[in-house]
Amino acid sequence: MIICKNIKSLQEIIDSYRLRKRKISFVPTMGSLHEGHLSLVKKAKGKNRIVIVSIFVNPNQFGVNEDFKNYPRNANKDIKSLKNLSIDIVFIPYEHEILKYKTPKLKLSRLSIERILCGKFRPQYFQGVGSIIIKLFDIIKPNYAYFGEKDYQQYYFVKLLSTKLKLNTKIISCKTIRDNFGIALSSRNLYLNNKEKKVALNIIKALRRTKRELSNQWKPKAIINKNKMILLEKGVKKIDYFELRSETLKKNVKKNGKSRLFIAAFIGSTRLIDNLKVN
Ligand code: AMP
Repeated sequence: MIICKNIKSLQEIIDSYRLRKRKISFVPTMGSLHEGHLSLVKKAKGKNRIVIVSIFVNPNQFGVNEDFKNYPRNANKDIKSLKNLSIDIVFIPYEHEILKYKTPKLKLSRLSIERILCGKFRPQYFQGVGSIIIKLFDIIKPNYAYFGEKDYQQYYFVKLLSTKLKLNTKIISCKTIRDNFGIALSSRNLYLNNKEKKVALNIIKALRRTKRELSNQWKPKAIINKNKMILLEKGVKKIDYFELRSETLKKNVKKNGKSRLFIAAFIGSTRLIDNLKVN
């Protein structure tokens, strides 16, 4: 496995692989890798594929009062986990080099989905994600890129962006990996103490209960409101949103239409997100 920190040397390595007609699978991450990230990496491996994983804690996607400084960083452990999966390249770019890298041919556009769900509560988030994703895509020019359904809105945002910018990268979604209790794995779970972990379990419980109740009775508004109350009673501090949306993130969902429940909630000072496919 090659550990690469510098854009030019990464591109030289990629060019040599491309000459040998190898396809490139790319998994962008912010590190502190867990089984959720590693499931993307496993899916990215394939016949005649080169797998590149990036580790970059993107400062642009954090708001001023958010956890950029404290975000967990475990580069040595991450490198070990990736070595165990025998991937080809881990790209750990220098922050200044990525931030000053220009993409004159790719201009980040604003999409309407940036104003809903997480975008409503973290207005800088999607522009921040997009600003770095287009740089990484421009540097690597992957054939395939893998994103987790755990961050479904982010996956869908990148998919739309890739279509809009006519990138030749196929965006592939990967199922959410959960712990034995059902909590979606997240680097931010490291912030939770034992008491908070028990409270966090109520998020997936609420999603599953809501899904069950919707299958008995299609009254989304009333059922979601009831389950929001239960979450607050169980110790969740604040709910940013708890919504039913279509797979394309539209608000109006028909009873048998493809849909998902989306939630963002604070457990103490930790903001967690999760979602569950309904139909
Ligand atoms: P992050 O390091 O949080 O930026 O995540 C990098 C990628 O891993 C994103 O595409 C996430 O959606 C994905 N990911 C994070 N947690 C999970 C999980 N529990 N299951 C599946 N994918 C995940």
